[in-house]
Amino acid sequence: MKFETKLIHAGIKPDASTGAIMTPIFQTSTYVQNKPGDHLGFQYARSQNPTRTILQENLAALEKARYGICFSSGMAAIDAVLRLLEPGEEVIATYDLYGGSYRLMTKLFEKYGIKMHFIDLSNEDELNKALNQKTRLVWVESPTNPMLNIIDIKKVAQSVAEDVLVCVDNTFASPYLQTPMDLGADIVMHSATKYLGGHSDVIHGCLMVNDKTLADQLYFIQNAVGAVPGPQDCFLILRGIKTLHVRMDRACENAAFIAKKLQNFEQINKVYYPGLSSHPRHDLAAAQMRDFGAMISFDLKDDSLEKAKKILSNTHFFSLAESLGGVESLIGHPATMTHSTIPKAEREKIGLTDSLIRLSVGIENKDDLWNDLRQAIES
Ligand SMILES: *Cc1c(COP(=O)(O)O)cnc(C)c1O
Repeated sequence: MKFETKLIHAGIKPDASTGAIMTPIFQTSTYVQNKPGDHLGFQYARSQNPTRTILQENLAALEKARYGICFSSGMAAIDAVLRLLEPGEEVIATYDLYGGSYRLMTKLFEKYGIKMHFIDLSNEDELNKALNQKTRLVWVESPTNPMLNIIDIKKVAQSVAEDVLVCVDNTFASPYLQTPMDLGADIVMHSATKYLGGHSDVIHGCLMVNDKTLADQLYFIQNAVGAVPGPQDCFLILRGIKTLHVRMDRACENAAFIAKKLQNFEQINKVYYPGLSSHPRHDLAAAQMRDFGAMISFDLKDDSLEKAKKILSNTHFFSLAESLGGVESLIGHPATMTHSTIPKAEREKIGLTDSLIRLSVGIENKDDLWNDLRQAIES
């Protein structure tokens, strides 16, 4: 199956008992057994749920993996990966990663004796310096948030020893634009809350792996910890996935249009979008991704909080909100919203200035979107 067909058919069969074409929502906590141990493969709904099983098979196919493991949120999926580690082992992660991932790693897992190194993963020397005997996991995001850096996933995977796990948070790209398994990743992680769900109506996370032993360890954690998604949430993700390709095509087209408009606008300082030829890693993005995604960041010549706030409160179609990846466009302010816990000096080192604004471009009409943004910037 080609990718677009997989979205709609991989792992999905009409319901055996009724022929329902849509996967039923099995809203049940337990399953009746004929005799002790004589059951249909389902015992208790934390351990197995048919709606979830079908979603897991579909997700695995999208990321060219053999196993999918679903969680109640993206953070719960990341938590499960970190639980693979023993005290004393070490993690290397990109320094400009999702704020929630940074918080989980530093505020919880460091407490449990796991050491974190946050480095510029696009710099091979830095990676080689950070790697040592205790390294167990390398955590990659590409494109990164909110600076839209691109990391060479293949190079990272080739740089680490066999027993070091490479996990890619593929949330920003979605499996339509990038399949890290092809580039040597061991684990692919998604906040399915974003592009996979696509309609801003559900929180969900997942992991995809090829190795049977690793899959069994993660299924064990899924069941032992119990951060599992409900069947209604699994249904919503299954439904969202069916249109991923058409939503993504339109969102990427809109984003490319807006990035170019912003680049030529006099009040703008810098535009961060991998699809612009001015992006330092444009060629790598073109090789590693099918298209450049629908996330854009930009900052202003007048680098003040006041000016940024004015723009943020004057858009109409771009709603001021955290999150991304829905059909509707969102606008956000990393310095005061998603990345406010990072000290200003640290932020500015990576270009995250006070006036930096992040856009999640949706699938509305692109002229409406640009006119909305332009009048807010001019306001
Ligand atoms: C949103 C997000 C997460 C966390 O996922 P939740 O579903 O909100 O728990 C992790 N990584 C990235 C890149 C995200 O955008």
